[in-house]
Amino acid sequence: MGSPLTDPVPMSMSSSRTDLDLDLGRATDGASQTSVFDLGPGDLAAFVQTLNEPAYRAAQISRWLYQRGVTDFEAMSDLSKGLRQRLAERLFVPALRVHRVERGVDGTTKYAFRAWGGDVVEAVFIPDASAPGRNTLCISSQVGCALDCKFCLTASLGLVRNLAPGEIVDQLTRVRLDLEAEAIRQSPEATAPQIGNIVLMGMGEPLQNYGALVKALEIMSSEDGPKISPRRITVSTAGLAPKIARLGRDTAVNLAISLNATTDAVRTQIMPINARWNIEALLAACRGFPLERRRRITFEYVLLGGVNDSDEDARRLVRLLRSFRCKVNLIPFNEHPYSAFERPSPGRVAAFQAILSRARMTVLVRTPRGDDISAACGQLGALVESPRSRLAIVS
Ligand code: SAH
Repeated sequence: MGSPLTDPVPMSMSSSRTDLDLDLGRATDGASQTSVFDLGPGDLAAFVQTLNEPAYRAAQISRWLYQRGVTDFEAMSDLSKGLRQRLAERLFVPALRVHRVERGVDGTTKYAFRAWGGDVVEAVFIPDASAPGRNTLCISSQVGCALDCKFCLTASLGLVRNLAPGEIVDQLTRVRLDLEAEAIRQSPEATAPQIGNIVLMGMGEPLQNYGALVKALEIMSSEDGPKISPRRITVSTAGLAPKIARLGRDTAVNLAISLNATTDAVRTQIMPINARWNIEALLAACRGFPLERRRRITFEYVLLGGVNDSDEDARRLVRLLRSFRCKVNLIPFNEHPYSAFERPSPGRVAAFQAILSRARMTVLVRTPRGDDISAACGQLGALVESPRSRLAIVS
């Protein structure tokens, strides 16, 4: 690091940090530094050009940051000494630090990172024993969330702040390094599990941090970054309708929609965003999402006992989704102390699923992973010790 991670937060780490012009302005007046994590691939190329360096230097820096996880410009040995020094003067790397790792019995691993400034960011690695290429990493897009879904633990934090593009990507980098270190700890010959899929289903609403999300996706799929194909990335949204088609135009990622109810009355009750964009508006937006052949939209449906899990709901769900090329993920509610909802019985879940299957819909019940370490859907945020969060439950 150019400066120790314990430094106070530099001026450019404001809550809205995607304004490149502003950051560059500050960088060149020498008064402050730019966070390299605010920059997408194009921004980084523009930045190195302001130093009279060719654009390909950005690719070199990106490989150090996002392929190797190196955060100290001094260590970027294929750059000239002079350039390394100038970079360290102008840029800083607010890398995530592993704060806590919890390894669950099924291999699910929950990471709590400390971001620059102290906020806690969580990510969950979910291995797939049957198909290792399908190991999934679930990452966060915000610290906390503003949407206030009544069943979700992250909601109880409120929105603390948006993550910067590089912070979204750094979750992947840090997890990869930890998996490699852990494999070596187990046995020197062991190979670390690979991360095949990325889902933006952790803390936060990705489409509410749209600019940073798109830059993060650009970094992730770049040749000079982690090289994850957009087809292996899924962005999940609670339903910010106007951003859905835009995401389809700007990227080639998969779309998941947290539908969670079949009537506006129930959906508005459990997901206040539904008052802004109701089910009809949301599904209309999904129709505007460009879907390549053989791709499908995922609809997630949290089953809340006695709330949205009746046979009637299942039949309405069939009617709502019949015309979509889609799959449905049923998620039996994961209980947590901040919500009074209950998980339906296994029999109820099976009956609900059967109605969808009989209508020839592709439907999966998402088995809770990482239950034992509070890493299941909607359980992120439990251990947040963020200085600015409203909630501070310390385990
Ligand atoms: N804000 C985005 C990303 C978060 S994804 C979104 O809403 O899609 C989190 C997923 O977990 C969503 O599908 C959500 O409906 C689901 N979820 C949240 N809390 C849950 C809980 N307690 N039990 C089961 N699923 C939950």
